[in-house]
Amino acid sequence: MKRVFFFGNGRAEGAGLGKERLGGKGSGLAEMTALGIPVPPGFTIEAAVSAEYSGGTSLDGLRSEVAQALAKVEEAAGRRFGDPANPLLVSVRSGARSSMPGMMDTILNLGLNSSTVKGLSSAAGERFALDCRRRFLQMYGDVVLNTGKEDFEEALTQMRKQKGVASDAELSAQDLSEIVARFEAIIRQHTGKNFPEDPQDQLWGAIGAVFRSWDNKRAKEYRRLHRIPNDWGTAVNVQAMVFGNRGETSATGVAFTRDPSTGEKKFYGEFLPNAQGEDVVAGIRTPRPLNADGSGRSLEETMPQAHAELLRVRDLLEKSFHDMQDLEFTIEDGKLYVLQTRNGKRTGFAAVRIASDMVDEGLISEEEAVLRVEPEQLVQLLAPVFPLKEKTAAVKEGRLLGKGLPAGPGAACGRIALTADKAVEMAAKRDPVVLVRAETSPEDIAGMNASAGILTTRGGMTSHAAVVARGMGKTCVVGAGEITVDAARGQIRAKSLEAKEGDWISIDGTTGEVLLGKLPTQPSEVLQVVIDGTLPLEKSSLARAFTRLLEWADARRRLGVRTNADTPGDARVARLFGAQGIGLCRTEHMFFEEHRILAVREMILAETAELRRAALEKILPMQREDFLGIFREMGNRPVTIRLLDPPLHEFLPNEEPALTRTAAELKVPVERVRDRVAQLHEANPMLGHRGCRLGITHPEIYETQVRAIFEAAAAAVREGLSPNPEVMIPLIGTKAELDKLRILVDETARRVTEETGQKISYKVGTMIEIPRAALQAKEIAQNADFFSFGTNDLTQMTFGYSRDDAASFLPAYIEKGILPEDPFASLDQAGVGELVTLATERGRQTNPKLKVGICGEHGGDPRSVEFFHRAGLDYVSCSPFRVPVARLAAARAALAGKEGSLSSTA
Ligand code: PEP
Ligand code: MG
Repeated sequence: MKRVFFFGNGRAEGAGLGKERLGGKGSGLAEMTALGIPVPPGFTIEAAVSAEYSGGTSLDGLRSEVAQALAKVEEAAGRRFGDPANPLLVSVRSGARSSMPGMMDTILNLGLNSSTVKGLSSAAGERFALDCRRRFLQMYGDVVLNTGKEDFEEALTQMRKQKGVASDAELSAQDLSEIVARFEAIIRQHTGKNFPEDPQDQLWGAIGAVFRSWDNKRAKEYRRLHRIPNDWGTAVNVQAMVFGNRGETSATGVAFTRDPSTGEKKFYGEFLPNAQGEDVVAGIRTPRPLNADGSGRSLEETMPQAHAELLRVRDLLEKSFHDMQDLEFTIEDGKLYVLQTRNGKRTGFAAVRIASDMVDEGLISEEEAVLRVEPEQLVQLLAPVFPLKEKTAAVKEGRLLGKGLPAGPGAACGRIALTADKAVEMAAKRDPVVLVRAETSPEDIAGMNASAGILTTRGGMTSHAAVVARGMGKTCVVGAGEITVDAARGQIRAKSLEAKEGDWISIDGTTGEVLLGKLPTQPSEVLQVVIDGTLPLEKSSLARAFTRLLEWADARRRLGVRTNADTPGDARVARLFGAQGIGLCRTEHMFFEEHRILAVREMILAETAELRRAALEKILPMQREDFLGIFREMGNRPVTIRLLDPPLHEFLPNEEPALTRTAAELKVPVERVRDRVAQLHEANPMLGHRGCRLGITHPEIYETQVRAIFEAAAAAVREGLSPNPEVMIPLIGTKAELDKLRILVDETARRVTEETGQKISYKVGTMIEIPRAALQAKEIAQNADFFSFGTNDLTQMTFGYSRDDAASFLPAYIEKGILPEDPFASLDQAGVGELVTLATERGRQTNPKLKVGICGEHGGDPRSVEFFHRAGLDYVSCSPFRVPVARLAAARAALAGKEGSLSSTA
């Protein structure tokens, strides 16, 4: 079977074979050659060889194929490999199926030895030839012969000192000749052998080293982070060298066919005259622009012919690859060569804009546009940002305090508040606030709401702070472990840095960085159009692209997308983002508002059911108003309202001053408050007296909530709306629990209908968040209209990891490869996912009409969404700001499953 593929002079043996066999670079070179784009001739050894070589097979079997391909390269280049008079030099580069920038090895100028260097010298000058040779020795020594870089660097530094010059460019031919001798000595010292003079030996040494670099540590780590399978392997590309450093009519540069940060359709790039690729990367010289800018220094102005040729290439590449390309080029004596092309990496902004523009240009279909944008990229379009320049400058100034998990994307800058109360107080003075806590609790809601951003030093991606912040669309960094919060002293510390309450701090919820001081932010353009309505759609091409892309996604997805929203405000935002209903309204969040918490506490402290009812009477109208507000926002869309879930002690104060204050406000002895707190104390509240267990022991609480729901629905009907409430019972483990509570719901609904004369259509269902409930789905479904998987609790209970302290060991688990990732962030498909699939199937066996959704945090995670699509769920529900992400992820899942365009049924 053929394994080595020549390309050159318009002929490419590997054209059409694709990245899977030839790797990204090899496939790009073959396609470009076939298109008639000027590419230096070369050949690609396919990636499959990589795996065999890793497995111990020798490269000997390739020798004759490589020799044949090399002969073709010699013919195309008009030079011979190893020819002392006019030598062909080659580069040897890696190239995997998906790009792994800088992770693997490259060798340039291969083929130089003590005799070929003379040939190069007479063709291109002595200094140039010697400089190529010393670069080659340095790269080959490090990459192939494992000498390391240090000794070479050291020798160069000494030589510069000796000659009193600042840069290598100032060294003379004579100096370089000495350097070459020193480098050869360094190699002898390290290896005990002379540097290989035979170009064939050099070539095979380099091919082996590039294959081996697939298995180096940083490449492996990169693959783990980017989920690139280990068995893909890398191809190896051997290609004739061209030189951008042969004088002022030579150059090297990079270009993007469109702007990779905004997506604007303008040719974008930079170049350096008389330079090699490394010089551009090293950043010592300032590159110049490609397009004329009046400075007289651009490529267009200095080498108009090469520029025109580059524009022709740009056009050809986009028409052929149907995507934005990132290319590397070299100009040798005025002639352009393209050395690489690949799909360009881009920001979320550019991804959306380019996908939308390319549909208009007829380059891609709407389906392709949907597949082009990673759902996670949309988050960038919604979040405020720090301008990169300012942030980099702040890091350089030493203002980086620490790094945590990026829990709520965006940029926030404000004064530090160390308690929720302080945050509220400071926010009232109009300065933005960043709430900094070791961790947050439901009591902090008001403070979180008042803050521009939230920072915690403990906790993971589903900690209270993370979940609530995402729900609120707030910027949030959690688990920044290097930072210590010293509330007693009113300060935070990390390394040698510290800041006091009231000082400015900036947090980047997209990267997890925490910086001291003030950084400016820019508001998101899409938000101004879609949510605030302060910018008209016609004025924002980005918002238009965003909206269109999501419409194309909607037309192709099967899975419905709802939202987790607790307030009319959240509901509105989610609806504007395209939510088709509410999948989870956590009623407890409503209890924390200032004027309500007292009534809630009175209810908890009540010693008889009667007194409890009296307190609940006060809560009822408040809840009714909440629900009515939500029904108004959601119209006839389904609204799933979960009855009270957290344990009661979460609503009680736990610090002495607050205990005393509560006792005084409620006019009860402080001991009573303290006793009740002690009585309700639980070591692990997540497994304690919560969820439907509360409904069983304190039915009056659920009764009041259900009454509030139906009275609100009746009021909505009177306003001409057709609300669709779905009452959801949390934490069911047995069918008997549901049976009992369903009677309570039906009975209360019936009574409200009698009283108001309004018949409301409604559903009663349960969360599936205890493994036993999943196993018993067949029985439970007999009495449920719907299931909603609470995958936060289901993950916690399936693994036996507490949601509150898992962050203390999960990073170590991930680092040691015990878990591939945080199962609270992305669903554990093998374990928790199995329970989801099994419960869905079993539930539908006894109740074919059963509606099945998921409302844990995983509802907004693209890979989990794809899983839920495959598992046949009806909808996912996620926080308002994740709704666009879920819409796109659901469409991509449908397209991946080639299900085509079915309409959504949330
Ligand atoms: C869940 O457990 O997944 C869920 C949605 O409920 P909560 O996070 O409120 O426990
Ligand atoms: Mg739960």
